[in-house]
Amino acid sequence: MSQALQAVRGMNDILPDEANIWELFEGTVRDWLQSYGYQPIRLPIVEPTPLFTRAIGEVTDIVEKEMYSFVDSLNGEALTLRPEGTAGCVRAVIEHHLAARQTQRLWYSGPMFRHERPQKGRYRQFHQVGVEAFGFAGPDIDAELILMGARLWADLGLEGIELQLNSLGQPVERAQHRAALIAYFEEHVEALDEDARRRLHSNPLRILDSKNPAMQALCAGAPRLIDHLGAESLAHFAGVQRVLKDAGIPFTINPRLVRGLDYYNLTVFEWVTDKLGAQGTVCAGGRYDGLVEQLGGKPTPACGFAMGIERLIALIKESGSEPAMSAPNVYLVHQGEAASRLAFRVAEGLRDQGFDVLLHCGGGSFKSQMKKADSSGAAFAVIIGDDEAATGEAQLKNLRQEGVAQQKLKVDELAGAMIEYLMDTEFNSDGEE
Ligand code: ATP
Ligand code: MG
Repeated sequence: MSQALQAVRGMNDILPDEANIWELFEGTVRDWLQSYGYQPIRLPIVEPTPLFTRAIGEVTDIVEKEMYSFVDSLNGEALTLRPEGTAGCVRAVIEHHLAARQTQRLWYSGPMFRHERPQKGRYRQFHQVGVEAFGFAGPDIDAELILMGARLWADLGLEGIELQLNSLGQPVERAQHRAALIAYFEEHVEALDEDARRRLHSNPLRILDSKNPAMQALCAGAPRLIDHLGAESLAHFAGVQRVLKDAGIPFTINPRLVRGLDYYNLTVFEWVTDKLGAQGTVCAGGRYDGLVEQLGGKPTPACGFAMGIERLIALIKESGSEPAMSAPNVYLVHQGEAASRLAFRVAEGLRDQGFDVLLHCGGGSFKSQMKKADSSGAAFAVIIGDDEAATGEAQLKNLRQEGVAQQKLKVDELAGAMIEYLMDTEFNSDGEE
């Protein structure tokens, strides 16, 4: 036997048990986005490399060391597996003039790729749902995007996800803060780690996003961007906070929240849990008013966020709010040639009527098939032998109710009988409450 191959490190298979939770998660997400009027957009996984270097910023973790970049051997094009979705979404909005004359509320979901050190909640292929709004300048859309998060956590049955908020102001305000920041870090240059020293003059704000615990105290004492904001930026920030307060959504202002990408301005936010260890941010976003123009489009205000699906699924599992796995309604047991031909017809007929049917395949005794029927979780077994096949009949067995006799029925009576049982069960369980 040749040696079996394995998946690339940090890139996971999502097996059926878990994939079922993903499906339910995705269903909830779709309904939730629809309830806010966001439209789906589907984007390529591979984009030209310069899109990311221009959008995310040269001196960021992502562009410096996390991108899966390669040269297309057929035409020499520099390409990258997308590390995030906003850049591609903005490219598409510009390319197709989506925000030229109207506002847009968009969302997408899919895999993202970053060459990080794999650990719990941090993978090299991971998945995001991204939500972006274009053409809205005021704080109302920032607030809407944040409110949406709170509703999704409730829809998913998740508790204890806390909101952190900051304002990064506008480029001029950042320039002033930057000067103060450089002066501060220059005074403490001996305490800076290697990354921080390298970024001291190229991108000092990035130092505040350091994941190095040894840098935390130093960062905590650094000049705060919020103290450099002018009246307009403060008014925008106050506008966001007002809506959140009206909606009763608690938040903490975290002056050190800067985000790992360079394109943000004004509002930035993160939703954080303490139940996932070090990888506690499940959703992050903010305003990025300069990005559309920076990527060659007309100036267009914009705002959005992305959530990490793996981290949310982990939280769903951790909190025990994972939804029950759906089982088929019917497991179809059959033995003999005539029986098997009838079984296919019956299975299709029941599916026509809306039942989920698992048709036994692969033969075997009635006994072994019945065992499979039981462990499938199906509510009913429909059993067809050649005797039944000869008369166009089938046995109906209720697998979930004790003491109910097996019934022999004409095949076109099966659906009606099952519905009766189901209504009965519903009635009884309602009565018990
Ligand atoms: P972190 O600070 O955890 O590295 P980030 O700021 O790099 O996150 P964003 O680029 O804002 O993350 O992505 C939004 C969300 O995507 C994160 O809040 C997180 O939930 C998820 N995410 C980011 N990187 C990964 C990864 N490597 N594996 C799993 N999920 C991730
Ligand atoms: Mg990161």
